[in-house]
Amino acid sequence: MLLEDLRAEVARYARKMSTSGLVRATQGNLSAHDPETGCICITPGGADYETLIAEDIVVVDEEGSVVEGRWQPSLETPLHTLILRRRRDIHCVMHTHSPYATAFGVVYQPVPVVLSESAACLGAEVPVAPYAPSGTPEFAELIAEYLGEGSAVIWGNHGAMVVGTTLALTFSTAHALEDSAMVCAIARQLGEPKLLPPEEVAQLRAFWLAHYGQRALAGDPEEAER
Ligand SMILES: [Zn+2]
Repeated sequence: MLLEDLRAEVARYARKMSTSGLVRATQGNLSAHDPETGCICITPGGADYETLIAEDIVVVDEEGSVVEGRWQPSLETPLHTLILRRRRDIHCVMHTHSPYATAFGVVYQPVPVVLSESAACLGAEVPVAPYAPSGTPEFAELIAEYLGEGSAVIWGNHGAMVVGTTLALTFSTAHALEDSAMVCAIARQLGEPKLLPPEEVAQLRAFWLAHYGQRALAGDPEEAER
Protein backbone atom coordinates (compact mmCIF):
# COMPACT_ATOMS: atom_id res chain seq x y z
CA MET A 1 0.00 0.00 0.00
CA LEU A 2 1.32 3.41 -1.01
CA LEU A 3 2.30 5.73 1.90
CA GLU A 4 0.95 3.27 4.48
CA ASP A 5 2.40 5.03 7.54
CA LEU A 6 1.19 8.51 6.58
CA ARG A 7 -2.28 7.16 5.70
CA ALA A 8 -2.45 5.44 9.09
CA GLU A 9 -1.54 8.74 10.80
CA VAL A 10 -4.15 10.68 8.82
CA ALA A 11 -6.76 8.06 9.81
CA ARG A 12 -5.66 8.28 13.46
CA TYR A 13 -5.86 12.09 13.59
CA ALA A 14 -9.19 12.06 11.72
CA ARG A 15 -10.55 9.77 14.48
CA LYS A 16 -9.09 12.15 17.08
CA MET A 17 -10.87 15.09 15.38
CA SER A 18 -14.10 13.24 15.92
CA THR A 19 -13.53 11.95 19.46
CA SER A 20 -12.28 15.37 20.68
CA GLY A 21 -15.35 17.23 19.38
CA LEU A 22 -13.79 19.16 16.48
CA VAL A 23 -16.27 17.44 14.13
CA ARG A 24 -19.34 15.24 14.45
CA ALA A 25 -20.61 12.34 12.31
CA THR A 26 -19.04 12.56 8.83
CA GLN A 27 -18.17 16.29 8.93
CA GLY A 28 -14.79 17.85 8.19
CA ASN A 29 -11.73 16.56 6.41
CA LEU A 30 -7.98 16.21 6.85
CA SER A 31 -4.99 15.92 4.55
CA ALA A 32 -1.23 15.47 4.84
CA HIS A 33 1.36 16.07 2.14
CA ASP A 34 4.31 13.72 1.60
CA PRO A 35 7.22 15.95 0.54
CA GLU A 36 9.18 13.05 -1.00
CA THR A 37 6.55 11.85 -3.48
CA GLY A 38 4.52 15.09 -3.65
CA CYS A 39 1.41 12.98 -2.96
CA ILE A 40 -1.35 14.01 -0.57
CA CYS A 41 -3.19 11.62 1.77
CA ILE A 42 -6.76 12.81 2.35
CA THR A 43 -9.85 11.56 4.14
CA PRO A 44 -12.58 10.13 1.88
CA GLY A 45 -15.90 11.92 1.36
CA GLY A 46 -18.56 10.94 3.92
CA ALA A 47 -16.02 9.13 6.10
CA ASP A 48 -17.24 7.26 9.17
CA TYR A 49 -14.49 8.35 11.56
CA GLU A 50 -15.08 5.60 14.09
CA THR A 51 -13.98 2.84 11.75
CA LEU A 52 -11.53 4.83 9.59
CA ILE A 53 -8.27 2.95 8.84
CA ALA A 54 -5.22 3.57 6.64
CA GLU A 55 -6.80 1.80 3.62
CA ASP A 56 -9.70 4.29 3.68
CA ILE A 57 -7.40 7.28 3.22
CA VAL A 58 -7.12 8.29 -0.44
CA VAL A 59 -3.80 9.21 -2.05
CA VAL A 60 -4.04 12.00 -4.62
CA ASP A 61 -1.43 13.94 -6.56
CA GLU A 62 -0.91 17.70 -6.09
CA GLU A 63 -3.63 18.42 -8.65
CA GLY A 64 -6.13 16.17 -6.84
CA SER A 65 -6.18 13.16 -9.22
CA VAL A 66 -6.52 9.86 -7.36
CA VAL A 67 -3.29 7.86 -7.25
CA GLU A 68 -4.54 5.09 -4.96
CA GLY A 69 -7.63 4.53 -2.83
CA ARG A 70 -10.86 2.59 -2.59
CA TRP A 71 -13.09 5.64 -1.97
CA GLN A 72 -13.58 9.06 -3.52
CA PRO A 73 -11.44 11.75 -1.87
CA SER A 74 -13.15 14.47 0.20
CA LEU A 75 -15.25 17.00 -1.75
CA GLU A 76 -12.90 19.67 -0.39
CA THR A 77 -9.89 18.13 -2.17
CA PRO A 78 -9.50 21.15 -4.55
CA LEU A 79 -9.01 23.38 -1.48
CA HIS A 80 -6.53 21.04 0.23
CA THR A 81 -4.42 20.61 -2.91
CA LEU A 82 -4.43 24.35 -3.69
CA ILE A 83 -3.25 25.26 -0.21
CA LEU A 84 -0.61 22.51 -0.10
CA ARG A 85 0.71 23.64 -3.51
CA ARG A 86 0.89 27.30 -2.48
CA ARG A 87 2.09 26.96 1.10
CA ARG A 88 5.37 25.06 1.01
CA ASP A 89 5.93 25.89 4.70
CA ILE A 90 3.12 23.53 5.83
CA HIS A 91 2.16 19.89 5.15
CA CYS A 92 -1.27 19.44 6.72
CA VAL A 93 -4.72 20.96 6.26
CA MET A 94 -7.59 20.28 8.69
CA HIS A 95 -11.20 21.41 8.25
CA THR A 96 -13.38 21.24 11.36
CA HIS A 97 -16.83 22.31 12.53
CA SER A 98 -15.70 23.13 16.07
CA PRO A 99 -18.70 25.02 17.53
CA TYR A 100 -17.20 28.16 19.10
CA ALA A 101 -14.92 28.96 16.14
CA THR A 102 -17.87 28.30 13.83
CA ALA A 103 -20.04 30.66 15.92
CA PHE A 104 -17.57 33.51 15.24
CA GLY A 105 -18.09 32.71 11.55
CA VAL A 106 -21.83 33.12 11.97
CA VAL A 107 -21.53 36.62 13.47
CA TYR A 108 -18.62 37.39 11.09
CA GLN A 109 -16.21 38.45 13.82
CA PRO A 110 -12.52 37.47 13.72
CA VAL A 111 -11.25 35.43 16.71
CA PRO A 112 -8.91 37.74 18.65
CA VAL A 113 -5.70 36.63 20.35
CA VAL A 114 -6.72 36.26 23.98
CA LEU A 115 -4.55 33.30 25.10
CA SER A 116 -0.78 32.81 25.05
CA GLU A 117 -1.17 29.30 23.60
CA SER A 118 -3.19 30.73 20.71
CA ALA A 119 -0.68 33.53 20.16
CA ALA A 120 1.99 30.86 19.66
CA CYS A 121 -0.05 28.49 17.47
CA LEU A 122 -2.04 31.07 15.50
CA GLY A 123 0.15 34.17 15.61
CA ALA A 124 -2.65 36.62 14.80
CA GLU A 125 -6.39 37.08 15.00
CA VAL A 126 -8.20 34.57 12.80
CA PRO A 127 -10.17 36.11 9.91
CA VAL A 128 -13.61 35.06 8.67
CA ALA A 129 -14.03 34.47 4.94
CA PRO A 130 -17.41 35.40 3.40
CA TYR A 131 -19.89 32.60 2.87
CA ALA A 132 -19.63 30.67 -0.39
CA PRO A 133 -20.70 27.12 -1.31
CA SER A 134 -17.71 24.83 -0.62
CA GLY A 135 -16.19 22.13 -2.81
CA THR A 136 -15.46 24.26 -5.88
CA PRO A 137 -12.23 25.74 -7.29
CA GLU A 138 -13.67 29.24 -6.68
CA PHE A 139 -14.24 28.42 -3.01
CA ALA A 140 -10.67 27.08 -2.78
CA GLU A 141 -9.33 30.39 -4.15
CA LEU A 142 -11.44 32.39 -1.70
CA ILE A 143 -10.28 30.43 1.35
CA ALA A 144 -6.64 30.41 0.22
CA GLU A 145 -6.83 34.20 -0.12
CA TYR A 146 -8.25 34.67 3.38
CA LEU A 147 -5.78 32.19 4.88
CA GLY A 148 -2.85 34.02 3.25
CA GLU A 149 0.31 33.21 5.20
CA GLY A 150 -1.67 32.52 8.37
CA SER A 151 -2.38 29.33 10.32
CA ALA A 152 -6.17 29.43 10.39
CA VAL A 153 -9.25 30.85 8.71
CA ILE A 154 -12.95 30.62 9.55
CA TRP A 155 -15.43 29.87 6.77
CA GLY A 156 -18.47 32.13 7.04
CA ASN A 157 -21.63 30.21 8.04
CA HIS A 158 -19.73 26.91 7.89
CA GLY A 159 -16.69 25.98 10.02
CA ALA A 160 -12.96 26.45 10.48
CA MET A 161 -9.70 25.41 8.85
CA VAL A 162 -6.17 25.23 10.21
CA VAL A 163 -2.82 24.34 8.63
CA GLY A 164 0.45 23.11 10.11
CA THR A 165 3.78 21.42 9.64
CA THR A 166 2.77 18.08 11.19
CA LEU A 167 -0.50 16.31 11.98
CA ALA A 168 0.15 16.65 15.72
CA LEU A 169 0.77 20.41 15.51
CA THR A 170 -2.18 20.95 13.16
CA PHE A 171 -4.47 19.09 15.58
CA SER A 172 -3.10 21.22 18.41
CA THR A 173 -3.69 24.42 16.42
CA ALA A 174 -7.31 23.41 15.72
CA HIS A 175 -7.82 23.10 19.49
CA ALA A 176 -6.00 26.40 20.14
CA LEU A 177 -8.44 28.11 17.77
CA GLU A 178 -11.46 26.48 19.39
CA ASP A 179 -10.17 27.28 22.91
CA SER A 180 -9.58 30.92 21.95
CA ALA A 181 -13.05 31.26 20.49
CA MET A 182 -14.66 29.57 23.50
CA VAL A 183 -12.73 31.54 26.13
CA CYS A 184 -13.35 34.79 24.27
CA ALA A 185 -17.09 34.08 24.08
CA ILE A 186 -17.21 33.28 27.82
CA ALA A 187 -15.02 36.27 28.71
CA ARG A 188 -17.37 38.63 26.85
CA GLN A 189 -20.16 37.54 29.16
CA LEU A 190 -18.02 38.48 32.17
CA GLY A 191 -16.62 41.78 30.90
CA GLU A 192 -14.44 43.31 28.22
CA PRO A 193 -11.75 40.79 27.12
CA LYS A 194 -8.20 42.16 27.30
CA LEU A 195 -6.15 41.15 24.26
CA LEU A 196 -2.49 40.16 24.43
CA PRO A 197 -0.20 43.05 23.40
CA PRO A 198 1.00 42.72 19.76
CA GLU A 199 4.68 42.61 20.79
CA GLU A 200 3.98 39.69 23.15
CA VAL A 201 2.04 37.88 20.39
CA ALA A 202 4.97 38.40 17.99
CA GLN A 203 7.43 37.05 20.54
CA LEU A 204 5.36 33.95 21.35
CA ARG A 205 4.83 33.29 17.65
CA ALA A 206 8.55 33.65 16.83
CA PHE A 207 9.43 31.20 19.62
CA TRP A 208 6.85 28.69 18.35
CA LEU A 209 8.00 28.95 14.71
CA ALA A 210 11.63 28.52 15.76
CA HIS A 211 10.71 25.27 17.51
CA TYR A 212 7.92 23.89 15.33
CA GLY A 213 8.14 25.72 12.00
CA GLN A 214 9.17 24.00 8.78
CA ARG A 215 12.86 24.96 8.97
CA ALA A 216 13.16 24.04 12.63
CA LEU A 217 11.55 20.61 12.09
CA ALA A 218 13.78 20.02 9.07
CA GLY A 219 16.75 20.49 11.40
CA ASP A 220 17.89 23.88 10.15
CA PRO A 221 20.76 24.70 12.55
CA GLU A 222 20.25 28.47 12.32
CA GLU A 223 16.61 28.18 13.38
CA ALA A 224 17.32 25.62 16.11
CA GLU A 225 19.83 27.97 17.77
CA ARG A 226 17.32 30.79 18.22
ZN1 LIG B 1 -17.49 21.51 6.51
